[in-house]
Amino acid sequence: MICNLGTRVVNNYLISSDVGLILIDTGYAGGFQHFMKMLKRNHIQPGEIKYVFLTHAHDDHAGFLNEVLAATEAKVILHPKAVEGLKRGQNSFEGGCSSIKAWMFCQVLSLFGHGDHRYPAIKDAYLERLIPTDSERFKSLNFPFEVLETPGHTADHIALLVRDVLFCGDAAMNGFPSSRRTIIWIEDLQQYKQSWEAMIRKNPNTLYPAHGKPFKASDLQKYLDTLDHLKLYALK
Ligand SMILES: [Zn+2]
Repeated sequence: MICNLGTRVVNNYLISSDVGLILIDTGYAGGFQHFMKMLKRNHIQPGEIKYVFLTHAHDDHAGFLNEVLAATEAKVILHPKAVEGLKRGQNSFEGGCSSIKAWMFCQVLSLFGHGDHRYPAIKDAYLERLIPTDSERFKSLNFPFEVLETPGHTADHIALLVRDVLFCGDAAMNGFPSSRRTIIWIEDLQQYKQSWEAMIRKNPNTLYPAHGKPFKASDLQKYLDTLDHLKLYALK
């Protein structure tokens, strides 16, 4: 089962597993009520969510994480480097926008007061529910899934491979204002391309991005070379 509890802006996938329901990312701060409404519409009790898989610590992925943790007993699977970000409650500004169009979009966000990309820092009481894990450590948790380190968009980025479906977070994107499946913000171009290569090697069928509709994994191969020509446009 894959169920999307997100909004038009951010997807929040919920998947079933032997260990209970796994929620992939939350949305922006202020999105919790919508999230609860979507749970209800799908006849799911919050307590059924046993894990949150956080692809990376960004404002549109960890915005209402505290509220999800308050409503559940879920543990959070995340990369060790994501912990600092959650404690800080703010995106890093290292890197830049991957196109002029993306840069203009980010300028518009700033006009609406979203330019500092802050979100509520994780509450101390929930720190013990974090399971910082890289791909190796994840194996010891005995999930029937695989974690892929996919840095580039951020240093802490991970993706979740569930059979032939790859939940790729912001390692790729499929909607405005992105093009050719490339995410609009990249911290490190070289790492970003290597992450695409790592995703291609796993040979998934479909990618479920955090932004936009699912797409065929073959698109990554199709657009891989265009990553060589990207330039980053810094915001600060
Ligand atoms: Zn992001």
